[in-house]
Amino acid sequence: MNDAPESERIFNEHITVLSSPWMEGRLPGTPGMEQARRYVEYWFDRAGLEPAIAGEDEPSWRQPFQLGSSREFDGQTLRVRANDAVEDFELGTDFELTGLGGDGSIEGEMVFVGYSIDGGPDEYESYPDDIDLSGKIAVMLRFEPMDDEGNSLWNDRRWSRNSTFSRKFDAVSKRNPAGVILINTPGANDSRVDMLMRDASSVIEDVPVFMMSSEAGSRLVAKHDPEGRSMAELRRLADQGTTIVDLDGVLEGSGDIVETPMFAENVLGVLPGRGDLADEWVVIGGHLDHLGYGEFGSRRGSGRLHPGADDNASGAAALMMLGESLRSAYDELPEDAQARSIMFAAFDAEESGLNGSRHYVRNPPHELEDISLMINFDMIGRVVNDRLSITGADSAEGMSEWLDPLFESSGLEIVKQEGMRGGGSDHASFYQQGIPVLFAICADFHDDYHTPDDTPDQIYRAAGVKTIELFHKIALEAATREEKLKFASPSSSSGRAGPTRSRALRVRLGIRSRQLPDGQGLEVVNVTDGSTAAEGGLQEGDIIKKWDKNPLETRSDLVSKLAELKPGDEVQVLIERDGEESVKFLKMKAPS
Ligand SMILES: [Zn+2]
Repeated sequence: MNDAPESERIFNEHITVLSSPWMEGRLPGTPGMEQARRYVEYWFDRAGLEPAIAGEDEPSWRQPFQLGSSREFDGQTLRVRANDAVEDFELGTDFELTGLGGDGSIEGEMVFVGYSIDGGPDEYESYPDDIDLSGKIAVMLRFEPMDDEGNSLWNDRRWSRNSTFSRKFDAVSKRNPAGVILINTPGANDSRVDMLMRDASSVIEDVPVFMMSSEAGSRLVAKHDPEGRSMAELRRLADQGTTIVDLDGVLEGSGDIVETPMFAENVLGVLPGRGDLADEWVVIGGHLDHLGYGEFGSRRGSGRLHPGADDNASGAAALMMLGESLRSAYDELPEDAQARSIMFAAFDAEESGLNGSRHYVRNPPHELEDISLMINFDMIGRVVNDRLSITGADSAEGMSEWLDPLFESSGLEIVKQEGMRGGGSDHASFYQQGIPVLFAICADFHDDYHTPDDTPDQIYRAAGVKTIELFHKIALEAATREEKLKFASPSSSSGRAGPTRSRALRVRLGIRSRQLPDGQGLEVVNVTDGSTAAEGGLQEGDIIKKWDKNPLETRSDLVSKLAELKPGDEVQVLIERDGEESVKFLKMKAPS
């Protein structure tokens, strides 16, 4: 790099540092992410920016927000007393207290309730009409009625939605049990049957739920069935229909779940404005976080460092460099010049669903309506063949015309996107508030996205620097132009703030879905064989909670998202399956 211009060297250096193993893939909540925040803070400070958040003692660069919570499990015990004998079960091998329910101590007689399903196919019912489990412990099987090979009797591919925890626990909680024992059904053809789960999201509040291994569960049932039947026998009965058995003995279980809130932090630096325009803002953002060791959202699975050089060390580098260059530009403005204030925002927790930017627009350090323009960088490190995609040029009146000359002289081939196509990054949070946005990303997506191969050696430094130089000019003009930009719903938008134009969809997902109340998401009711959804790994009973990192609340949300897509596009969705969240990647197919 010795002959490269200074700016390319700095761009390269920022990316190399942020994607180094020291930063641990910048997963929110890790020491590596904290290192990355300090690095950005250092460079903001060096550029002469000011900390954006008024603190009690002194101003701070940090805007913390809660990002879920971590749970500690403590003091778990499980034992059965019968005929003066006590059997203790072993934590970790025999059982776990799960986060599916509450905590505390339970004690009661055990009732085997089969699969705990209300209203299954072919009039299948686990419970007789008037059963009451008050004061009792419900002992239930995981999944749903299955054949000798351990496959669902109701669905030829995977399990049906009757098997989901939310439905099973709904059914049992109507009968008021004091506790639940959930047994990994022996013989089920599902790799999860060998694992005890602990950290799942709660589906049945207040009632403790203990999960038991197939082996320990079989032992418990066989030993305490008054007729001495084996688990295999009881399972076969439950496969056929209602099987309620009062087991002998009293079960005692206990355990505590201690929740500690987890915090993520946006790093915010301000370049103060001048004169009358100083109360207005240009926000320049980019996310700093990434996927850590691929614990979440990886396309290759976990265990290896996900450096995130392009995604989005490149955008964070742009922030730091623009902080410096715009600061110098402001210093050179004439004495009486007017200029808006510029907020530099390194957002946290973007990858898990635009959390940092959403927190920002809900708790802005200034009035939201004073923002003239929001600029977002995400993946500007692999602008191959100088092809840069820009979304949002039509999100303010006259903006496209204003920008065209800048685009033309940029040395880049600008690929303008209509509407909010490409809304899976932090600008979407601003756009939804009716704020004009510009979003820069490489025009040609690469396969290293969200894998351990997104490394710094693959960065296109010259094109990255051209992108930064273009946006230096855009930001400076946006900050100093007289008129504040006026939001316009893009002509062909199907984003939230814009109108949906009905047109034939070019892609087909291949699910039927049901809208859950209170914006909880869409439940997958049916998946068509060979469809986009089936190939992406969606299953009946999955709840789709986010689409391209944006909350998915209604079916019309889904239709408008699909309207933006063409065959071959890849979309990242966040689903919840049996209390566990995961990310699936859907490669869109045309309707067949
Ligand atoms: Zn990203």
